[in-house]
Amino acid sequence: MTVEPMGVMPVIKDLVVDQTLFWDKVRQVSPWLQPEGEEPEAEYLAPNSDMTHLAGVMSCIMCGACVSDCTVLEMDENFIGPAALAKAYRFAADPRDAEDSSRLAELSEYGGIWDCTRCYECVEVCPKDVAPMDRIMALRDRAMEHGYDKTYGPRHTDAFEESVAHSGWLDELRLPIKTFGIFNFPALMSMAPVGLRAFLRGKLPPIFHRPVPGVKKVRQLVKSVKDQQQEE
Ligand code: SF4
Ligand code: SF4
Repeated sequence: MTVEPMGVMPVIKDLVVDQTLFWDKVRQVSPWLQPEGEEPEAEYLAPNSDMTHLAGVMSCIMCGACVSDCTVLEMDENFIGPAALAKAYRFAADPRDAEDSSRLAELSEYGGIWDCTRCYECVEVCPKDVAPMDRIMALRDRAMEHGYDKTYGPRHTDAFEESVAHSGWLDELRLPIKTFGIFNFPALMSMAPVGLRAFLRGKLPPIFHRPVPGVKKVRQLVKSVKDQQQEE
């Protein structure tokens, strides 16, 4: 057995880490109820049926294990992270909260729900079965239902699917352009270092993106999945 300090957060001494990053991210999602109108005189009541499915996420003990092992946070401090996003779900899905739409708008931005790579680490390490990744996927669905389906996350997903359906593989050169838009210079420029590194290591994708041999089979596969989705 290996005993070591938590990941992502800076070590102060031995096993003690500075948890500022963890708590800053939790605070970032406004983890409190924001109901509409005047405060009621008695407690806010919600039907049991609406609250039962929140029991799982409410059992989070803020241990930080999911944050410690998140593979995206390890590389990108801007990501809100699994614990804070699970907490965000807890309030966005609460029937008493009136700010669900604005919460979802904020979470759809860079660093939010679309930055998770679905690696499953947070689900595996969580001692309370909160399943943060599943909450993040549920937040994505909710964001789309609320009309936030043109943000960079859904656009990235669409561009990805479009490329594979067309050529059988990913057109990595055009993916950022389709994701961020051709006139979004700041976002495109932020990808420049990645492009430069790829160029220096001889891994720059080809300018002319050609279909793979047997692309017809890939197209058939994509079509049959889409047909199946329409039937459901
Ligand atoms: S599934 Fe997403 S949130 Fe969970 S550890 Fe992986 S990247 Fe992080
Ligand atoms: S690992 Fe589970 S219990 Fe711990 S902070 Fe993350 S979601 Fe909460």
